[in-house]
Amino acid sequence: MARSPVRELSVQSIESLSPHMKRVILTGESLSDFPPNQASAYVKLAFDNPVTPEKPLLRSYSVVDCDQAEQQLIIDFAVHSEGEDQGPAARWLEQVTVGDSIPVSGPGPTKLVDLEADWFVLAGDLTALPAIRANIEILPSDAKGYVILEIPHQDDQQSLGLDAASIPEGLEVIWMVNPHPGKQKGLLKETLAGLTRLPGKPYIWAASELNSVLEIRSWIDEESLAPRSSRYISSYWQLGLADEAHKVQKKQRLAE
Ligand SMILES: Cc1cc2nc3c(=O)[nH]c(=O)nc-3n(C[C@H](O)[C@H](O)[C@H](O)COP(=O)(O)OP(=O)(O)OC[C@H]3O[C@@H](n4cnc5c(N)ncnc54)[C@H](O)[C@@H]3O)c2cc1C
Repeated sequence: MARSPVRELSVQSIESLSPHMKRVILTGESLSDFPPNQASAYVKLAFDNPVTPEKPLLRSYSVVDCDQAEQQLIIDFAVHSEGEDQGPAARWLEQVTVGDSIPVSGPGPTKLVDLEADWFVLAGDLTALPAIRANIEILPSDAKGYVILEIPHQDDQQSLGLDAASIPEGLEVIWMVNPHPGKQKGLLKETLAGLTRLPGKPYIWAASELNSVLEIRSWIDEESLAPRSSRYISSYWQLGLADEAHKVQKKQRLAE
């Protein structure tokens, strides 16, 4: 992300969207010049670093929406399952209350599909759901393809903000339950591999745990399904590693 202003925001509201997803609305006067139409772009939230307080720990989150006039920035957080290793963002989410402040930088570029494609595949876990939702919202009403969402519990299928009326009829939405995110790296890929291919050029958008997206990328290459210009493949986290270490792995393994 290019150097961008750091906005000091405060928590306006916290709402549970499903057992494993919380919506936090941040507010602050500095949002009045936040650029418009940034759904799917990421911002970086700065969390306290207990070891080196002068170096906050940065974590990326997708913009759900930003209303400049109302000075509201909406972020949806995946709630990591109990007993899992907790990083600074997960700990913050557990304890956050209205009025807490948080520095936010960004946004980075939007992560949107190429609407020139003939059909679309959007795949990911809960961390990708906000960006996938933003992509569904820009698709034309006659768009065709598949949305594959890996969720920790079937109740996470409810109330995730995907209004049935806004989903093109030709887009099949497939929900898959994986109670231990990151632990079945082949799940998304196997589902993708079982889909009936549609005529023409696809655009494939996939974001999830690193090993899961590496599986997807290998499969796309083996099948010569979509050239690099017709895909967005990104890891949003890595099982067992804090984001600082994940970024190093992501650079090495996704750049290969
Ligand atoms: C471009 C981009 C956009 C993103 N958008 C969103 C978003 O909108 N919403 C969202 O919730 N996340 C999003 N993420 C993912 C989020 O940044 C990571 O999950 C981040 O690692 C969480 O930080 P943490 O401090 O909780 O954990 P870290 O300190 O990074 O890691 C600590 C431990 O938690 C584990 N962990 C991290 N993430 C998860 C997870 N999702 N499930 C289970 N265990 C996990 C790690 O494996 C590690 O063991 C996005 C990431 C990127 C790169």
